[in-house]
Amino acid sequence: MQEIHSIMDELIADPSAAAFKKTLPFAQLLEQLLNKKALFDAALAKSAERADAGRIIGKTSALDALAKLLDISKSEAYKRVQRGEEHYGNPSPELSEEELEKETPAQKEARETREQQDKVEQAEANRIAHNHVISAEKQDAIRYELEKLNDNTSLSKATLRKLAMKEATTRSVEDLRNWTRNKVIRINPSAKDPLAAVKKRSLSIGRQDHDGGARASLYLDGKGLALLKSLMAKAKPGHLLNDPDKEDIRTKQQRQYDAFAEILHRAHADLLPGRAGVGTILVSLSAKDIANIEASVPDHRYPTNTGIKLTPTEILRLGSAKYDFGAVLDADSGRPLHLARTQRTASLYQRLALFASELVCTREGCDSPFSENEIHHIRSWLEGGPTDIENITNICFHDHGSNNDQRDGKDNMGYMDIDPVTGRVGYQPGDRRKPMRFNNSAAAAESGGAQARV
Ligand SMILES: [Zn+2]
Repeated sequence: MQEIHSIMDELIADPSAAAFKKTLPFAQLLEQLLNKKALFDAALAKSAERADAGRIIGKTSALDALAKLLDISKSEAYKRVQRGEEHYGNPSPELSEEELEKETPAQKEARETREQQDKVEQAEANRIAHNHVISAEKQDAIRYELEKLNDNTSLSKATLRKLAMKEATTRSVEDLRNWTRNKVIRINPSAKDPLAAVKKRSLSIGRQDHDGGARASLYLDGKGLALLKSLMAKAKPGHLLNDPDKEDIRTKQQRQYDAFAEILHRAHADLLPGRAGVGTILVSLSAKDIANIEASVPDHRYPTNTGIKLTPTEILRLGSAKYDFGAVLDADSGRPLHLARTQRTASLYQRLALFASELVCTREGCDSPFSENEIHHIRSWLEGGPTDIENITNICFHDHGSNNDQRDGKDNMGYMDIDPVTGRVGYQPGDRRKPMRFNNSAAAAESGGAQARV
């Protein structure tokens, strides 16, 4: 270990021409070790799952434990867990209970033979990955492309993975990605699955960029495609413009987007009245913000419950300028002042107050936006904890599952509580001798509560 450090330190201090030749064999060995680390990481992720490692940090998920204990991002931890599953998990498509019940004895036998075969292919693919130290990048590229393979294709996913792993020994990452993608495209039509497009339906929304927009990626099934196509047919020049005689300088793509945004806008208005707070876009403004809104720079963005930040112009265009609610926030805790209710479900007013104060999940380090979170009773409802603003906080679905309502320290699981000194909501670790931890993430720092505390 010491030797490794000194070889590296030497080159870092003086990257001379002579040092290159001298260091090259070591660099090649190091690269190989790093490639092997791909398999090591996968195995570690699997063993963390088997060890229920989430408990070490007071959570239920092994993925969170990996991210925290190794100080890596959640997306990197996710990749490792996926890789672990691919190596050590079930390589065959999972059937629902309903599908299993409908099986005839002959179908069952055929399936079991296929599953046996898949296990053999998986072991072979793993062996190639191990012997040829296939890098994490290549393995992730293969997995990403294979996720697009339909069920019931002529060649199973496990077989295709083995073939791709063989190709990985000679191809570059980019070339391997193309090879696998082309295979999937060619094999997919052999799937006898009328629901293939429905299963693939998806809409994912990327992160907001510095201009305030984001890319989205959409896969439509036949029905969705037909609906969208018929809508887009209306997006001819002049569509949705106030003055139909004026020349329409928008591109076709822009016209199509405008037509699409109009639909979203109308659907949004339809959804508003029925559901308390859900489907509503709430804008968080402190008293200071409201006083200064006209003086604020036009591109200043205000946080909303959806995690997307909007400028005053965008807020006005959404038609949500008629906010008439406010919350009085306590300067020590940043929590909203008294608002009592007795029903279990938090009232819309309480949600608004919590949103104004908390903005994101209150467990430390979390940035999950309010609109995706749940209202949590700090003293549990079953133990008589009231639905008072003093007893509720918003936490994400994920962290809600890790809350130990019994507060008995079992499995090192802690709970959300109120700091007796400041009144601020935070996380009390299962071991009560440890101090409470608060959400000071960048997202939480934008909350009304954080603004009130400073
Ligand atoms: Zn959370």
